[in-house]
Amino acid sequence: MDYRRYLKNYPDENGRFGEYGGVYLPQELIKPFEEITDAYNTICHSSQFISELRRIRKEFQGRPTPVYHCDRLSSKFDGVQIYLKREDLNHTGAHKLNHCMGEGLLAKFLGKKKIIAETGAGQHGVALATAAAYFGLECDIYMGSVDIAKQAPNVTRMKMLGANVIEVTKGLKTLKEAVDAAFEAYLNEYKDCIYCIGTAAGPHPFPMMVRDFQMVIGVEAREQFMAMTGEHPDIVAACVGGGSNSIGMFTPFLDDPVELVGVEPLGRGAGIGDHAASITYGTKGVLHGFESYLLQDEKGEALPVYSIASGLDYPAAGPEHAFLHDLGRVKYETVSDEEAVEAFFNLCRYEGIIPAVESSHALAYAMRVARERKKGSILVCLSGRGDKDVDFIAQNYGYGDNYIIK
Ligand SMILES: *Cc1c(COP(=O)(O)O)cnc(C)c1O
Repeated sequence: MDYRRYLKNYPDENGRFGEYGGVYLPQELIKPFEEITDAYNTICHSSQFISELRRIRKEFQGRPTPVYHCDRLSSKFDGVQIYLKREDLNHTGAHKLNHCMGEGLLAKFLGKKKIIAETGAGQHGVALATAAAYFGLECDIYMGSVDIAKQAPNVTRMKMLGANVIEVTKGLKTLKEAVDAAFEAYLNEYKDCIYCIGTAAGPHPFPMMVRDFQMVIGVEAREQFMAMTGEHPDIVAACVGGGSNSIGMFTPFLDDPVELVGVEPLGRGAGIGDHAASITYGTKGVLHGFESYLLQDEKGEALPVYSIASGLDYPAAGPEHAFLHDLGRVKYETVSDEEAVEAFFNLCRYEGIIPAVESSHALAYAMRVARERKKGSILVCLSGRGDKDVDFIAQNYGYGDNYIIK
């Protein structure tokens, strides 16, 4: 396949990446989503929109984030050089703000008063509440009662930023019910508001829109790495939850001679309910309005998932990942909780960077490569910082002395 025209051809006019993606929604929601598609397709070419987004990224988010060479960590191996794209230095401490600011700006251009979304662990809710405060929009975040109890610091952040956190008490009271509640609210209020999904998944146009907004990661990283080393990295790796930081990192490298690796969470192992490796162990199915690889039972119901990283425990991956997997252009590998924790501690000790436990999965894959190969370079998307994870890690794993590579 020729990747030079890839962005022109995918998704197609039906919002499909090959056989994946599309729009699977109740009839009454089709029109509101078409409205977002039409608006986005017009506005994304407007020079006013583009220059405003560029200014926001520079002045508010602090972009570009740097590419960093892990000199001390790399020296523990035989020759492979590990580099990081530092999305942990993006405002709010992770990549999610990249698409939330884009979605917020779109809402503003459309004259909407409010943005709504669901959140699981609360990371998306915080990023969106940040965008809402910046743009002066109302913000309703739907969140299951179980998650509200578990993620108290993020609930506090959202409220402090002025968002309404709306408790969802149906069913298992977690992410799935929160998605249903947010869709329902959107149906009733779509004239005045816009729905903002948290990753490169959901019905068209979200997988495309979120990819486009997140591509800033890969575009910057590709240039920065070239300026630093005079060549492309041999491998580019990123963790895959729903797939937004990874698709943003990979897309600009599609036409380059670079191995692209998506890293999925293996959790405690390959049994049902022990992991969230949707591409590795899933089958084709429909969830939350789109078609992709899905961890599902015989009836097509999503299976329970688990990962130490709450940002990765989603039973599907965005449709473009399913497509790139089938094309063989991106390879998907798995990393367990234990391996992620080892990577977490080693980055702390050798580089003075506390990574998000999600991002630690991608770094653990880089360390695996560094053990297996004698030379080459690997560029890891460090999707976020780990301040949110330190209490949990210290309680369960101590300070990591047994994990440090000598
Ligand atoms: C949410 C999150 C992820 C996973 O989301 P993707 O859409 O797969 O990128 C990864 N890393 C961090 C730090 C996160 O907050």
